[in-house]
Amino acid sequence: MAAIEAKRLSLTYSTEDGPLQALSDIDLAVAHGEFVSLIGPSGCGKTTLLRVIADLEQPTGGEIRVNGTTPGQARLRRDYGYVFQAPALLPWRRIAANVTLPLEIMGLPRTERRRRAQAQLDLVELAGFAHKFPWQLSGGMQQRASIARALAFDPALLLMDEPFGALDEIVRDHLNEQLLRLWRRTGKTVVFVTHSIPEAVFLSTRIVVMSPRPGRIADIVPCDLGPDRPLEIRETPEFLRIAQRVREGLRAGHAYAG
Ligand code: ADP
Ligand code: MG
Repeated sequence: MAAIEAKRLSLTYSTEDGPLQALSDIDLAVAHGEFVSLIGPSGCGKTTLLRVIADLEQPTGGEIRVNGTTPGQARLRRDYGYVFQAPALLPWRRIAANVTLPLEIMGLPRTERRRRAQAQLDLVELAGFAHKFPWQLSGGMQQRASIARALAFDPALLLMDEPFGALDEIVRDHLNEQLLRLWRRTGKTVVFVTHSIPEAVFLSTRIVVMSPRPGRIADIVPCDLGPDRPLEIRETPEFLRIAQRVREGLRAGHAYAG
């Protein structure tokens, strides 16, 4: 059973100006433990696809299964954690209290909440910052804290929508390395949205290249760089070859849209 399986999935929003097709005929299966990136021009439906997987939008055509069930059932089982582009931490709560918020809402006992927050903060290498307030942390650390919050229920599936898009390149490199370590240590399935070709190639086991609206899959690029990826791998011929294929897919998608 796949972690995610979409068949001829489409979604048309109804807007004041009439129907707007955001996704068209998406066929995609993501296996457990994969790291799949979605890349494509702005407005091509990447966020929409992530939101469909998370049961935040309802598709208007086709089928979608998450761990073999509907996204709604997967949501009730807390099968996934969702990381937004902006950290969205509550400024009046300390980092640990931000991470435990979803657990509080679910009514978990305090000692269990503390234990889980500590474990997830360890995983994002923020163990020493549990008692700080969000404004005392850098942008990169805030985003790590919001990853810890998404991991609060220890979900097998992590959905990440351009989590590092607003950060400068050095910080982003560092977070990419950390995320790769986290993924290797935990064996989670990750669906990761990005605008950056090098980021997608560095992190992924496969890259889904999307065409402009209505979002379709232009290419699916395997990314067989192995699990051990130092940042220098970005200079190797294999890396550059994969990046080139992604670039061509993006270009072909544009041509397709006219
Ligand atoms: P991306 O994340 O790739 O930039 P989105 O999934 O956010 O793209 O949006 C895809 C298209 O759907 C865009 O044209 C966007 O304007 C439109 N759209 C997104 N959300 C809504 C909504 N709730 N209602 C109407 N149109 C929307
Ligand atoms: Mg988006």
